This record gives sequence, C-alpha cells and structure tokens, in this order.
Amino acid sequence: MLAARATRIAVSPTMKVAAEAMALKAKGVDVVDLGAGEPDFPTPKHIGDAAKAAIDANFTKYTTNSGTDELKKAIVWRYKTDYGVDYATNEVIATAGGKQALYNAVMVLFGEGDEVITHMPGWPTLVEQIKLSDATPVIVHTRAEDGFALLARTFLDALTPRTRGIILNSPGNPTGGLMTEGELEALATECARRGIWILLDLCYEKLIYDPTPHNLPAVLVKTMRDHTVLCGSASKAYAMTGWRCGWTLAPKEVVAACNALQSHSTSNVCSITQKAVVAGLTGPQECVTDMLDQYRVRRDQLVEWLAVEPRIKLVKPAGAFYLFPDVSEFLSPDGVRTSAELAQSLLDGPRVAVTPGEAFDAPGCLRISYAASIEDLERGARKITEHLRSIESKTTV
Ligand code: PMP
Repeated sequence: MLAARATRIAVSPTMKVAAEAMALKAKGVDVVDLGAGEPDFPTPKHIGDAAKAAIDANFTKYTTNSGTDELKKAIVWRYKTDYGVDYATNEVIATAGGKQALYNAVMVLFGEGDEVITHMPGWPTLVEQIKLSDATPVIVHTRAEDGFALLARTFLDALTPRTRGIILNSPGNPTGGLMTEGELEALATECARRGIWILLDLCYEKLIYDPTPHNLPAVLVKTMRDHTVLCGSASKAYAMTGWRCGWTLAPKEVVAACNALQSHSTSNVCSITQKAVVAGLTGPQECVTDMLDQYRVRRDQLVEWLAVEPRIKLVKPAGAFYLFPDVSEFLSPDGVRTSAELAQSLLDGPRVAVTPGEAFDAPGCLRISYAASIEDLERGARKITEHLRSIESKTTV
C-alpha cells in the first residue's frame, strides 16, 4: 500500500515512553519526566518580545524561501563572532529546525550507492534521513571508556571507496560526547583528500560544560571548506524548540540545492520565528550562559545522586543535557530483560519517564534528561536507584 520509501523508515523509538508519560500527565498522574529532549527553561523574554513586535507590525507574510536577509546576516555574524569563519548570505539557508537543515543536506548530497557514516549511540533521525536519501547508513560506535568521544580512527576505519559523507554530532545526543579539534582535523584531512562530505550537527553547540576548545567549524573551514556543511539550531541554545528554526552554512551550490528542495516542501521558516531568532542571535548571550550554568549544577548533582549505586555505570557528560548510564548489571533473562522493559517498568511503577538506550542503538543504557528542575532530578534519582535495587532483589531471590 505504501511506497517503498515509507516502509524503510520507522517512527522515532524515543517517542513511545514519552507519549505514554504525556498521556499519564494529562490524566493528572504525578510523573517525574526525565525523558524530555528539550530545555525546560522559557524562551528568553527579549526573544519573545521580538516575536510580538513582528505580529504587531504585521510581519506575517511569506519571506524569501531561504530566510530574510536580516536573519541570514545574523547567522553569518554569529558564526563569524563565535568561530571566526566567513560565510556569505548566499551560503546560508534558514530551516524549520536543525532537523530540516540536516534533512535538506542529506537529500541533496547523497543517493543510491553512496555510503554515509554516522555514529551510535546517537540520534536516530540521522540514520533514518540517510535511508530516506536512498544511501546506505554505515554505523560506527563510540565507547563509554573514551567518554563517548568521537575519534578520527573510528571513522577512518569505516571508509570504503563508496563513502560519500560522514555526519558528526558534537556535543552528541544522547552521550554528551565531543570531538576534539585535533581528532576532527585528522579526519577532515583524509576526507578532503578523498572528496568526502562532512556534515556537522551543531544542535548542542552552546552546551559544553568545561572550557574545552571546540572550534570545529574553523577546523573544517580551514581543511575542507568546499566539502563542509554546518547545521545549527536555535532550539536548544535559546530554549526555542517549538519555534522551529535552524540553519545550514555550506558552499553556495549546496545551499542553492537545499533552497530548491525546501521551496517545494515547507518554504520559508515562520516569519515571526525569524524575527525572534534574529533577536536571539544578535542580542545578549547571557541567557545562554545562565542556562548552561544551571545545567552544569544539575548534571553534577544528578551524577552525585546516582553514584550512590555504583552498579549504575556512568560517564560524566562533556556536553548536551543528558546522562547516559549503563544499567545492564540490573538486567537478567528471568527478571527485567532489556533497558526498554526497564524504562517501561520505571514508568509503570515509580512513575519516572526516561528513554531506553534501544532508541539510540545502545541497549543496556538509559537516557536521563537533566533539562528538568533540581527537585524532579532529586526525586527521579532516588526513585531510579530504588527501582533498580528492587528489580534486582526480585530476580535474585
Ligand atoms: N540534532 C540532534 C542531535 C538532536 O538531538 C536534535 C533534536 N533533538 C536535532 C538535531 C534537531 O532539533 P531541532 O530540529 O529542534 O533543531
């Protein structure tokens, strides 16, 4: 009944527990929701005010498909300021979130017969997008022992004559793992030699906790500008997930192709959102650092609270806002068998929502979001440790 393309992709498995948690909350059940993949902070006021002003000024019509000049200039300025890279406005397109930025790029660059490498544990959408483009996803794995860092060697070992692209997400969802500038340079040097594209998903670029050099855009621009695609988003940096705005910076031929694709699908990003994002990108950045400081406190607290149970194996994440512990020691064939069952039992029992590792190709793990209040994190950590001990005692008696 459906086209082959539709049968190749699956709805995000991150959604199942999240949907159930939402339904329970709607019924008034007290759920500690640590499943969210989005900031719990409100959108900063000056950003909302810019949107209100846009409505009042009746800035509510179609804009240029690729975004207003004002927005494209703001994106270019932000990347010049933050990373020292130079882009022209015809090398930028504003998109409906980072998701569409990546989707456009994958669709215009890859096709049948191409291999595109990406990494797991990772965000499942990247793999599904590669499949939608008719290319073949090649999955490499980062390791907890390395702090889930992206190492050049991991990707170099997976290159074949058919490799046409590599998609990197740093800081990564769900691990918070980073790629260092040195590792990226080693990888980019080889990719430049072979004409392989690197797509860099910078969705969590503002969420790095320690002073780690992470000027990945500059490394790529220096090494392989003509094969570099930078995809960013206002969603996490400015607590704007619902507004839907992301962007791509890439060579102008790539941007022109993305523009053509987008012009036949969604057209321009909501005009009001565009005004709001200009305010976000060009306005004061203290809101970004304030949120980062609060996430850091939450991360450190949550790590401490979960560390009371040493069998929860935990790497302190370098970025993003998730912990990704390995809880496989609590799983057994005659008890709770998988992390998916565990996430379900945490929701059914103590009413804690987390995302099972299966969603990120990492069975045995749980993704616990700390984009939640410190009170919820404290309650959640206590309920999770108690639940893990209880399921274990049930299987050992
Ligand atoms: N990249 C990663 C790794 C993500 O986790 C997400 C959202 N969860 C996105 C991109 C896209 O987010 P958005 O479309 O809201 O910008």
